[in-house]
Amino acid sequence: YRRDLESDGLTRLALEAELRKAFISGEIHAWYQPIVDLKTGVIAGFEALARWVHPKRGVIPPDHFLTATRDLGMMTDLGAIIMNTTAPLMARWFRDHRLPQGFFVSVNLSAPEIERLHLIEDGARVIRDHNLPRKTLKLEVTESVFMSEGTGAVKTLERVLDLGVRLALDDFGTGYSSLGYLSRTRFSSIKIDRSFVTAASRGVPEALAIICAVVALAKSLGMATTAEGVETEDQARLLRLAGC
Ligand code: MG
Ligand code: MG
Repeated sequence: YRRDLESDGLTRLALEAELRKAFISGEIHAWYQPIVDLKTGVIAGFEALARWVHPKRGVIPPDHFLTATRDLGMMTDLGAIIMNTTAPLMARWFRDHRLPQGFFVSVNLSAPEIERLHLIEDGARVIRDHNLPRKTLKLEVTESVFMSEGTGAVKTLERVLDLGVRLALDDFGTGYSSLGYLSRTRFSSIKIDRSFVTAASRGVPEALAIICAVVALAKSLGMATTAEGVETEDQARLLRLAGC
């Protein structure tokens, strides 16, 4: 027994209780981060990301509440909020704006959500019902999905592809980076984790080498690459040079 164990436990318990309440009272929202085509500078799409808009503490990023959400078994509730707000929003964007060719919205998919295929089917149905172009919806999965779900995940993802949804491999290079899954599943793009982007722009040659290797790997497999966490012109220039 240590005193800090007690305070850690209590903090956690309080967070979980608050989080449960947040889900019920509508404090969990989808925010949209632009994905820019480095060649043209045009916004090619958006990634839907979860934010907890806390009445007192303000906007809380997902790394502060995703673990608790997972522990509470509420990942599918989170996925439902994101999908159910994003799909109709996409329909509205297409109706009200002239969007560039191939415009898409990315939604992150966690391991427990893969089992709830109806969530994805709902999103795909909205696209069909509103006559949006096929492939408007992109799902981002991480390698951990394959680790926990194995071949079941591959089968489910095959069905997802048949619905006209595209797949991106998220956080590539931070997990197991299985080249087997990369060759067996029809991903349309690979996402380079922000840690590589940050390191490369700080002049770490290994990080830049890894970015170049991932870009080359993706190219030879006919996939696109998306880099995360691009916040400065210098980072954009570096990634453009790398062919991202
Ligand atoms: Mg993602
Ligand atoms: Mg990511």
